[in-house]
Amino acid sequence: SGRWAKAEAILRELEEKCGTPTGKLRQVADAMTVEMHAGLASEGGSKLKMLISYVDNLPTGDEEGVFYALDLGGTNFRALRVQLGGEERRVIKREYEERSIPPHLMVGSSHELFDFIAAALAKFVATESEDFVLQPGRQRELGFTFSFPVRQISLASGILIKWTKGFLIEDAIGQDIVKELTKAMERVGLDMHVTALVNDTVGTLARGRYNNPDVIAAVILGTGTNAAYVERANAIPKWQGLLPKSEEMVINMEWGNFQSSHIPLTEYDQSLDAESLNPGEQIFEKIISGMYLGEIVRRVLCRMAEEASFFGDDIPPKLRNPFILRTPDIAAMHHDTSADLKVVGSKLKDILEIPNSSLKMRKMIVEICDVVATRGARLAAAGILGILKKLGRDTVKEGGKQRSVIASDGGLFEHYSEFRNCLMNTLKELLGEEVSESITVELSNDGSGIGAALIAASHSQYL
Ligand code: ADP
Ligand code: MG
Repeated sequence: SGRWAKAEAILRELEEKCGTPTGKLRQVADAMTVEMHAGLASEGGSKLKMLISYVDNLPTGDEEGVFYALDLGGTNFRALRVQLGGEERRVIKREYEERSIPPHLMVGSSHELFDFIAAALAKFVATESEDFVLQPGRQRELGFTFSFPVRQISLASGILIKWTKGFLIEDAIGQDIVKELTKAMERVGLDMHVTALVNDTVGTLARGRYNNPDVIAAVILGTGTNAAYVERANAIPKWQGLLPKSEEMVINMEWGNFQSSHIPLTEYDQSLDAESLNPGEQIFEKIISGMYLGEIVRRVLCRMAEEASFFGDDIPPKLRNPFILRTPDIAAMHHDTSADLKVVGSKLKDILEIPNSSLKMRKMIVEICDVVATRGARLAAAGILGILKKLGRDTVKEGGKQRSVIASDGGLFEHYSEFRNCLMNTLKELLGEEVSESITVELSNDGSGIGAALIAASHSQYL
């Protein structure tokens, strides 16, 4: 009937507008490389901030002692401690505590947010057992993972540039985040030294390197998306200070803000962006990351309901709620292998209160999920190719056995296997058989936790 034809037309249009043929991906990768150069050349030289992390020593495995980490920047807030045992014994013990951030604190005042964090940390420190050994006379040290764009002036200080991912606390913008945390720790009577302020991508890179010396970059695919990599210090024209002894510097790209005319955008992306907390910003993130994929699918379904009566004469009221369809939901639908797509059926019922969906309807919904996730995964792969190009690692070196490992973390990469597989296959497609043998993308779990503690250890004030 006309209904189906119209719905079908909307789906085909989506497919066409989201298309990412190889040639287009190469253009995206080239644009990424160009913007990387521009962002390294001068402050504000590109939409890619290419932030200097001040991490010039990645962990080697020799690190010893107890170290703490705090992870703020996603859905949950976590505190962690590790006991490191050096080259032989590695991570001897680790303990975590995780809580969700009360939504009102995500949009409240800086003071309230940091008080909440410091109080949670103090409670956690109070439960430290004798398996964790702090050397006499030493202060506990902390790596603080703060996954928002920060302009660092040293390893342990940084000014918040802006919020992303649903956080918006005006009075924290322009403030030194480490100072805010330190003051809050003093208010709750916690004696702890913030040794390093790190982005989760940088933590993931450190975590990956601790396990594997071939790790050269990290990519986060979770609520948001970002990447970090190891750059030669003398290839950073905007770098003002002395070159570090290691001659290396980890760069936090903030690639979520990447933008290029080669990125395929749709009307759904445009309206999502316009209605977001940060219009015009984080465009790459808004088409790739977990915070948004489900919402894009919801917007497509809304249009199908409105213009093609896809769900019948009435538009299901729940469908009008922004962000009601989460990325884990679309992943579950996408992964549904049952003949009658019963997972899709139950998601529609439970989330959107659409009680009886036909198989035809369910199939189309899976297709929408596929189109949206595929575009995101393929663009993420193009971004990785951009980094490899910048480092000259996208070709086979003569006689070289050079290996490149990209450490990846985040719930999207870890749990959305269609997304992950598509990303890996696309990277292979872009690199070709021979080169892709020397390049792997590896899950690097908990970079934002252990990674930050490892960086605190490799930059300890007692070294
Ligand atoms: P964060 O990015 O918030 O630090 P994670 O790395 O754990 O935290 O990623 C969580 C995000 O990953 C969620 O917001 C969601 O978008 C995505 N995610 C989690 N589980 C799944 C899943 N099963 N399928 C797809 N995406 C998922
Ligand atoms: Mg995280």
